[in-house]
Amino acid sequence: FIYLNHAAATPILPRAAAVAADVAGRLYGNPSSTTDFAGRAAGEVAAHARRCCADSLGRRPSEIYFTSGATEANNWVIKGTLWRAARSARRHLITQATEHASVLESAHSLRGDGFDVTILPVNSVGMVDPADVARALRERPDTALVSVMWVNNETGTVQPVAEVAEACRVAGVPFHADATQAYGRVPIGLGPGPAPDLITLSAHKAGGPRGAGLLWVRAGAPGGVPAPLLHGGGQERGARAGTLNLAAIAGMAAAMVDVGRDFEQATARLASLRDRLETRLVEALGAVVVGNRTQRAPHISSLRVPGVPALELLKAAPRVGAAAGAACHAAGIDPSHVLVAMGHGEQSFEVIRLSIGPQTTDAEVDEAAELLLQVVRSLRSVKGLRTP
Ligand code: PMP
Repeated sequence: FIYLNHAAATPILPRAAAVAADVAGRLYGNPSSTTDFAGRAAGEVAAHARRCCADSLGRRPSEIYFTSGATEANNWVIKGTLWRAARSARRHLITQATEHASVLESAHSLRGDGFDVTILPVNSVGMVDPADVARALRERPDTALVSVMWVNNETGTVQPVAEVAEACRVAGVPFHADATQAYGRVPIGLGPGPAPDLITLSAHKAGGPRGAGLLWVRAGAPGGVPAPLLHGGGQERGARAGTLNLAAIAGMAAAMVDVGRDFEQATARLASLRDRLETRLVEALGAVVVGNRTQRAPHISSLRVPGVPALELLKAAPRVGAAAGAACHAAGIDPSHVLVAMGHGEQSFEVIRLSIGPQTTDAEVDEAAELLLQVVRSLRSVKGLRTP
């Protein structure tokens, strides 16, 4: 089996798995109970994890809020920021068409409650135009938040984050970037230059366990910390109630330390493996790269294979674990909203997403390419199509 679906979930890194297992087995205390020794020990582990995550981002521990993953963090930023800003009559959100469903669905949910949402279009390679963001901000001085993802999870396209950040800075509006697919794949600068005010991360997209993530909120960000989504025992400085998932958080922190340390080497290797895989499929099958060929993350290759429906291809090549640009639902097959927004109508059904990780080997990439070549040739010949 050749796993080429690292954009969906990554295998856990060995040290992250060991740390998570150790914490789960040994540290039973509640990290917010300071009156007993077990709680204090757990609290120290949580504090250490917070420091590791902050260091990996080059930021302060007090700016980190642990969550159950990126879905929760995205829901929290969008809803919590708009709820808080509504008090000052800011009831408008700007986002863009290729966001993850956790952003888009959160945005849609607000519409029913008297909020307004502008969803900006993208160009044919999936990039939003920062001038559109600036224009939307000028037209709507009641904007409470701009949310534009750092790296798209289907195509790997990198958004013009610095330019969007600059437009938001000029308008004094907080800027959130979903960095779930960016962390560990492209440099994430959160320093004094133009950068987001809030970012979302998910542990299992970069070598950590499932069920942990974080929201980073810059100290002094214009909108402040979003109003809580979860009310209760006052954890996370009153911003996100609920006992921390300590084992997953400790595993995430360990993964972030290792991913940060290996960043340069790992990303260079990912890019060269991705190019090796892509070149073979482009040359031998006439596959077409979908998304931005220059501004993109190194772990995702989104390819259209003319004449071959992606779901058929993946079914006929069960040894290759990859994703399709369309998903089956009870009602039929829907093309992905990302590909539709980029203008790929019917062609969306022919798009596959191959995504690699640090564990992917040269041999796996070569074997996957050969398997896909054989299967595509035979599917095409059944349809009377020739492979160039
Ligand atoms: N945002 C992006 C860009 C993603 O790729 C994903 C996972 N597919 C999420 C958010 C949701 O992350 P999680 O699984 O941690 O909820």
